[in-house]
Amino acid sequence: MKVYISATLRGFFGRNSFVEVSGDDIKSILNFLTDEYPDSKKVIFNADGGLNSFIRLYVGDEDRSEPDQWYRKLKPDDEVLLLPSIAGGAPSDNLIPDERRKEVGLDDQEVERFGKHLLLREIGVKGQKRIKASRVVVMGAGALGSPVIQYLAAAGVGTIKVVDDNDVSLEDLQSQVIHSARDVKRPRVASARDTVRNTNRNINFESENERINADNIVSMIDGYDLVIDCTGDHRSRYLINDACALLGIPLVFGAIYQYEGRVGIFNLNGGPCLRCLFPEPPEPGLVPTCAEGGTISPLPGIIGSIAANEALKLIIGIGEHLDGRLLTIDSLYLGSRIVKVKKDRKCPICGADPSIFRVEDFDYEEFCHLKTAEDEIPVEGFTPEELARRIEDKDPMTIIDVREPHERSIMRFPDAIVIPIGQLARRKDELDPDKDTVFVCREGKRSILAINTLREAGYNGPMYNLKGGIEAMKDIMFSHEGAWL
Ligand SMILES: [Zn+2]
Repeated sequence: MKVYISATLRGFFGRNSFVEVSGDDIKSILNFLTDEYPDSKKVIFNADGGLNSFIRLYVGDEDRSEPDQWYRKLKPDDEVLLLPSIAGGAPSDNLIPDERRKEVGLDDQEVERFGKHLLLREIGVKGQKRIKASRVVVMGAGALGSPVIQYLAAAGVGTIKVVDDNDVSLEDLQSQVIHSARDVKRPRVASARDTVRNTNRNINFESENERINADNIVSMIDGYDLVIDCTGDHRSRYLINDACALLGIPLVFGAIYQYEGRVGIFNLNGGPCLRCLFPEPPEPGLVPTCAEGGTISPLPGIIGSIAANEALKLIIGIGEHLDGRLLTIDSLYLGSRIVKVKKDRKCPICGADPSIFRVEDFDYEEFCHLKTAEDEIPVEGFTPEELARRIEDKDPMTIIDVREPHERSIMRFPDAIVIPIGQLARRKDELDPDKDTVFVCREGKRSILAINTLREAGYNGPMYNLKGGIEAMKDIMFSHEGAWL
């Protein structure tokens, strides 16, 4: 039998997209997987022997994550899928009520501009007026936000609000097609505004060049018809999900990683939310993010276009959509599937007995493991300058690079021993507890996780991380090239 492994988890399974297993129920398959790939134990199981809450296990399109489902007999041709967080379907009522549709008209120029929509029986003049009357918030003007914003503008969405606090960088141009080379170092929202204006000057473009938090999210989205989540971190995703759920705003969700993408719709007419699917995010560093793992250039175009298409269908009220379902697409092997997302009656935000009533009262930093717990010993670190000095002084120390192999091929760290984070606990005997050990990764977050993992595994030697990671040390590494690279 085959178990399909979602892209973010493949590092724990020898980089395979599927594993051939023997077993006739979930329990025996999980045992087989963790015996064959011991590093995967930590990511699959929680302390009680259940499934980690950021992992879902599907047989076909059915969620079988709960342990009481683990002993049901499987058929030999059943497809089993392990799906981690990265983050219905009946024709629906439209999101724009008739009164609002009747308030807008289409002038001659608009009839010409949107002629190809007017030709479609399902859209027509009524549908186009609904699009014009709609007010949509796009969270993030990066890779996914680019096609979403551009297609919403091209389709004639009346009000588009874009929220993003980043400036355009050169590396953004590989996938963020809304920005161009002359926009580098400009705010993404300014560049997005120019592109939208070039498409259609009549669109009411609003923007917030601000990082979202629990204090500002509600005022940013209150009163809008629909939110599209094009962010790339768990803190933003849960914050957006919760604010939408509490305000009763439907949420279209898009996510990308390397070659794999997902689209879903949450919180539509009392349907499930992100927390129903993934009650908790993974620990930082356990599953790589899009920024660390990379992504192929057209993938956000594919996923963002589907997200924009779902948004338009919801606004007009046509077709079948992804409410209560999650579409996953593997662009490397051209596979796609749709899995059902069940409403969790115990969901703290949309369940029968909720416990979160205001986003301001919930600690998203702590929930996403971005805070250091009080009883946790803080990790000591070196700044790039300090580490460079120690290397030049030939101080005795061991440098361990915990990045994935594909990341190291971009920039090698000189004289580092390479041990991917998943293998650290098992290979701790390769470290010398009498010497200082410095851990390096891309951004300095996984190296902290590496140190905590080794502490947990009982390693007692002195350990330090490189603050800000190799990203922060880049310039020094280049300037020292002759000396010690
Ligand atoms: Zn929920």
